Amino acid sequence: MVYAIGLIREITLSQRVELTEMASRDPLTKLYNRRFAKKLILATYKKSIETDQSLCLVMADIDHFKQINDTYGHDKGDAILVNIAQAIGEFLNETDIAVRWGGEEFLLLLDNTDEYHGLQKIEALREHIATLDAHQELPNLSVTMSFGLIEWQPLASLERMLQQADAALYDSKDAGRNTTTVVKAFCLQLDDTDAVN
Ligand code: GH3
Ligand code: MG
Ligand code: MG
Repeated sequence: MVYAIGLIREITLSQRVELTEMASRDPLTKLYNRRFAKKLILATYKKSIETDQSLCLVMADIDHFKQINDTYGHDKGDAILVNIAQAIGEFLNETDIAVRWGGEEFLLLLDNTDEYHGLQKIEALREHIATLDAHQELPNLSVTMSFGLIEWQPLASLERMLQQADAALYDSKDAGRNTTTVVKAFCLQLDDTDAVN
């Protein structure tokens, strides 16, 4: 009887862990989903303020993904998304955060990283993705990504930083894709709405 109760408790606990994992991850790529990631990102931001460390936020988007789907089909598109997500996850440090932000768009948080080192890392990731075997049955396929990077300005809201990173991503698209654009701190003007997160 005691054993049975223990077993039920144990199953319940492991199921709870599984449910939390399911609720926090995107089912296709297994990266964090958007809703869960926001909490994690804000907690990391709080820690970075307390420890006076820098953080970078990076919006990343696969280039011409619609064309890839149209050419090779949706299933291969899915497999490419999974492979790219895995490559991103493996490239980052353990305390960094990788999120599937939308369809073929990802948000990356680089922990304890300033703009200079963030750009180095993202450029290395960009080159890694461009040379990756994105699908094992398509050896000649090269998939590229565009990036927008910002070093989180103390007191600036997450929303504000995301808007800026997104605008930088679109500058990378306009510049021809397979590019990283950095938001320069002097371009930013904080306003009253930024003081609260
Ligand atoms: P750009 O370089 O400007 O980003 O062009 P794009 O084609 O990547 O962007 P667009 O927004 O025109 O198309 C995004 C495509 O991504 C269209 C959509 O079908 C595809 N997509 C989004 N989510 C998924 C998914 O889960 N699986 C697959 N296979 N495709 C997806
Ligand atoms: Mg795209
Ligand atoms: Mg997109």
